[in-house]
Amino acid sequence: MRMNEQGVPEAREHEQPAVSGDGATPPAKRVAVIMAHPDDAEFVCAGTVAKWAAEGHEVVYVIVTNGDKGTHDPSITPAQLAEIRKREQWEAARILGVKDIIFLDWPDGMVVPDLTLRRALVRAVRRIRPDIVISGDPTVYWVGNTYINHPDHRAVAEATLAALYPAAGNRNYFPELLDEGLEPHTIRELYLYSSNGADTFVDITPYMERKLAALRAHASQIGEWNPDEMIREWAREEGKRANPPVEYAESFKHFTPEG
Ligand SMILES: [Zn+2]
Repeated sequence: MRMNEQGVPEAREHEQPAVSGDGATPPAKRVAVIMAHPDDAEFVCAGTVAKWAAEGHEVVYVIVTNGDKGTHDPSITPAQLAEIRKREQWEAARILGVKDIIFLDWPDGMVVPDLTLRRALVRAVRRIRPDIVISGDPTVYWVGNTYINHPDHRAVAEATLAALYPAAGNRNYFPELLDEGLEPHTIRELYLYSSNGADTFVDITPYMERKLAALRAHASQIGEWNPDEMIREWAREEGKRANPPVEYAESFKHFTPEG
C-alpha cells in the first residue's frame, strides 16, 4: 500500500477490492506497532492507529516491556504494576480499535538491543506478517533541551530495525523459528515516530478525541495530570508542518524499503 504525503492509504486507487461486488472495499492491511512500554503508542501514534483501524486495517501491538518501573509509589509492587499496565494497555487498544497485543514481558528499563530481543521481534513479525510497521528512531538520544530519550525506546527501535532487515525476511536467520512454523516475512512500509528526520504527517484531526481517551486509559501513568493541552499542542505543531497544514497531525519518517 502506498501513502500520499499525509499518510493516507491510497489502496483504493491502486489495488483490487478484497471482496468483489461493490468494488469500494480495499483489502485490509496489517500493521504492527512495536513499542517499549505500555502507553508509548498512545503518546506517539494513537491518532494514526485509530485512523487506520477505522479504515479497516488490522493493527496489532507488540509491547516489549511490562512497564513495571513506572511508579514512585512504594505501596505498589512491580508485579502489581505490570498487571495494571497490561489492563490499561488493553483498554487503550479497545478504544483505538487495535485487534491484538503481544506482550514480550521484558523488565522495564532493562532493554538492550541484543540477539535475544532481535529473535523475539523476528518471531513477532513473522507471526503478525504486517505490511506496515510503526516503531521508533534509534538515533534520537534527546529532543530539544528538555527531553532525554528513554534508553528502552532507543533499544527497542534499534532491535526492531535489525529484526526487520534482514532477519525477518531471511530463513537462515534464527532457523529455529522455522520449526515453529514461522516463515520469513518482509514488510512493505516502515514508519518511525518522533524522528528528527520526519517527512510524513498523518492528519489525525478527526481522531484526536479518541487518542486522548486512549491516553487517559493509562491511569497509573497519567494520575491527576490532564494530558489534553500538551498532546494537542504537540499535534498542532506537527499539523503546521504538514503540506497542506492540518489542525492535528502525527509525524513519522517513512520508508518503503526494497526486499
Ligand atoms: Zn516509554
